Amino acid sequence: MKFISTRGRSAPVDFIDVLLGGPAPDGGLYMPRSWPTEIDYDGSPFADDVSSLLRAFIDDSDFRKAALGEIPDAYAGFDDPAIAPLRALDEDKDDSEGRFLLELFHGPTLAFKDIALQLLGRLTSRALEQRKSRATIVVATSGDTGSAAIAAFRSRPNVDIVVIHPKDRVSDVQRRQMTTASDQNVHNVALDGTFDDTQRIVKSLFADSEFAKRTHLMAMNSINFVRVALQSAYYFTSDDNLTAPANFVVPTGNFGDVFAGEVAIRMGCSVRQLVVATNANAILARALATGVYEPGPVHQTLSPSMDIQVASNFERALFTASGRDTDWVRSAMDQFARDGRVYIPPHVLHALRRTYIAGSASDDETIAAIARIHDETGITIDPHTATGFAVAEKLKGQLEGPLVFLATAHPAKFPEALAQAGVPPPEVPPQLANIMDAPERFTVLPNDVAQVRQFILDRVGS
Ligand SMILES: *Cc1c(COP(=O)(O)O)cnc(C)c1O
Repeated sequence: MKFISTRGRSAPVDFIDVLLGGPAPDGGLYMPRSWPTEIDYDGSPFADDVSSLLRAFIDDSDFRKAALGEIPDAYAGFDDPAIAPLRALDEDKDDSEGRFLLELFHGPTLAFKDIALQLLGRLTSRALEQRKSRATIVVATSGDTGSAAIAAFRSRPNVDIVVIHPKDRVSDVQRRQMTTASDQNVHNVALDGTFDDTQRIVKSLFADSEFAKRTHLMAMNSINFVRVALQSAYYFTSDDNLTAPANFVVPTGNFGDVFAGEVAIRMGCSVRQLVVATNANAILARALATGVYEPGPVHQTLSPSMDIQVASNFERALFTASGRDTDWVRSAMDQFARDGRVYIPPHVLHALRRTYIAGSASDDETIAAIARIHDETGITIDPHTATGFAVAEKLKGQLEGPLVFLATAHPAKFPEALAQAGVPPPEVPPQLANIMDAPERFTVLPNDVAQVRQFILDRVGS
């Protein structure tokens, strides 16, 4: 498979370039040139669906063989054999109308990002080996990407990892999951700013081509198409385990996980609608309601991994919804860079609304959802997952068929939110044991790209 840019001005590239690269040189995001249709997911377990995806996307037969060989090891550290188990919430209801929890938090850092990153880390090391190269991975994180990336890359010989989180805007547990990694190749930065500032800084580092080349800079955020593609696997396994096409309710920040649902649909997975659930940072809900995509200031909420206004992957949805109209996408993103907003034309908006339905939930509604689901089912959900339940409740009249709620983080990561909901904290899983006492290592830096650049040069040399 070749991959092309959403903005149409970059040469097509191969899987390994997408795996190791950042955005396309024209500023766009890579997408497959066409959608593979040979994903065979009938009756197959999660790991086989992942194999099927890799086979569809990787042309180079040596690399394909190496990649497939990494799958068992990547998922060996998960504490559930199904990797992404689907749990029924309404025992008394028929499959065709019940609610289901898709548990995506069984990996080493207890959030869904492990599912793609545990494999991506191994694929990256393999690809670098093949190219006799090395990389500096720079990650902007709103909380969970950073720890998942550290878990995926710590102590890998050909990689340095720099993780930039917004200072005091991630939970205590989230910060400690990152800063207690003692490996020499792990470098944590606490930036004086918001998550959007960390993303902006990472983007400018990539835009500085001399610096990027010198440090072998590499992105690991959900703008990496390989990551998004791997996340589509759990949509396939869920569909496989249900008797009717479902609505998937997806707590959203960067639009990566929910766009993985669209990727699954384009490759043949039966899905009714994708429910885009946001917290108070409701730019996506507003865009789908009004046709104007316009970020505002970032609000801090109880679901910090979704405290994002600029949802990078939305460009991919604009690309597909416009019928791959790269000229329009390019002009829309130019307009966005210039004026801070995009006007989505009616035919594109109409196409988006066929796939996506959106809503937002306040912190109060999120807390109420945690309490309500605990009362109704005895199950404790985390605040990110809870935004999905709160939004689905609001959209109830518009959603028919089974509802699959993506449980994106383990509730033990967010004890403060549970306390506010009056729900007792769950038992602390072994993945979190020790981090509360272990020493932390991180460097506080101002919201200034030059200082971040210097920090990286000091740490990784050149
Ligand atoms: C990252 C994250 C999200 C948002 O996922 P996106 O792909 O950025 O939309 C939601 N919940 C949790 C727990 C996360 O870590």
